[in-house]
Amino acid sequence: LAKREGPGSFTWYSPAMSLASRQRLDLLHDLEAAIRQQQLLVYYQPQISLTDGAVIGMEALLRWPTANGQFIGPDRFIPLAEQSGLIIELGDWLLGKVCEQIVSWRNEGLGDLKVAINVSMVQFNHDTLVDQLALRLRQYGVKPSQIEIEITESVAMQTLEDVIDTIRRLKQLGVTVSIDDFGTGFSSLAYLQKLNADRLKIDRSFIREIGVNEGSLSIAEMVINLGHKLGIAVLAEGVETAEQAALLRASGCDEAQGYLFAKPAPARMLGQWLRETQGRVALSQAASAISH
Ligand code: C2E
Ligand code: MG
Ligand code: MG
Ligand code: MG
Repeated sequence: LAKREGPGSFTWYSPAMSLASRQRLDLLHDLEAAIRQQQLLVYYQPQISLTDGAVIGMEALLRWPTANGQFIGPDRFIPLAEQSGLIIELGDWLLGKVCEQIVSWRNEGLGDLKVAINVSMVQFNHDTLVDQLALRLRQYGVKPSQIEIEITESVAMQTLEDVIDTIRRLKQLGVTVSIDDFGTGFSSLAYLQKLNADRLKIDRSFIREIGVNEGSLSIAEMVINLGHKLGIAVLAEGVETAEQAALLRASGCDEAQGYLFAKPAPARMLGQWLRETQGRVALSQAASAISH
């Protein structure tokens, strides 16, 4: 099998290598080139308070445009970047891009916006994460409170002590931490309390079924109550309909993110959207959906 030894090393094809693994290796080489040539794009999706419709922040989502004008989704290239170790370089590049964007939005008069960044298992376990973050924040003059780190529940369920310690150091730096895709793992109440996260993001798979399948709203309500018992804010991801927003809001869900409010978009479009909406969306549509 081909083995990567880090930058500058070479890979080779063995005749026995399956077509699938050769394609993966090709894709990895393309990804490496795309990163070096700064071809990856950062899209942003607003996160909305269900109390008053205010934009509380955005999530940064990577996009890889290809020559034919289509995108390769992060679900496809992030695992590849993780397995190859390229994710460390990519993560640091993204962090720089996000900080640059935060400064640029500030200069455009849009205020001090907050951006949530997804961090995968390899990044989270890498010992330079916190130092790298501190360095970039200082370099760009971004406040730590303007960055949130999203880790998935599966990352959070790894070696207990290490995860708790990294979260503690992140919070000491002043950044906030959210648990992404919550509800798909099996973290216990006691464990969740020890993690000391600032936000739980209810996985899209539950939100999607709200209004379709009764059990889904019950699961969302359990997560909302759980979060609130522990003093953690709860955000619903993938909200697509006014009915979902209304039901979640009635159940006490704090925040939401999804196509109903805005799809992920390039920074320039987001800036324009923020100016047009003045950083607040109308929840009246969601409120009226409750009544019938
Ligand atoms: P995630 O962090 O759970 O991000 C939410 C995903 O749901 C995003 O997919 C977003 O575009 C999509 N989404 C948001 N609202 C809706 C909606 O209303 N309906 C539907 N159908 N989808 C919605 P995306 O951008 O394809 O990202 C997929 C995953 O890739 C992310 O899941 C995250 O785990 C990972 N990812 C994305 N960017 C990065 C990154 O910079 N670093 C790392 N480590 N992972 C990333
Ligand atoms: Mg996320
Ligand atoms: Mg998620
Ligand atoms: Mg996800």
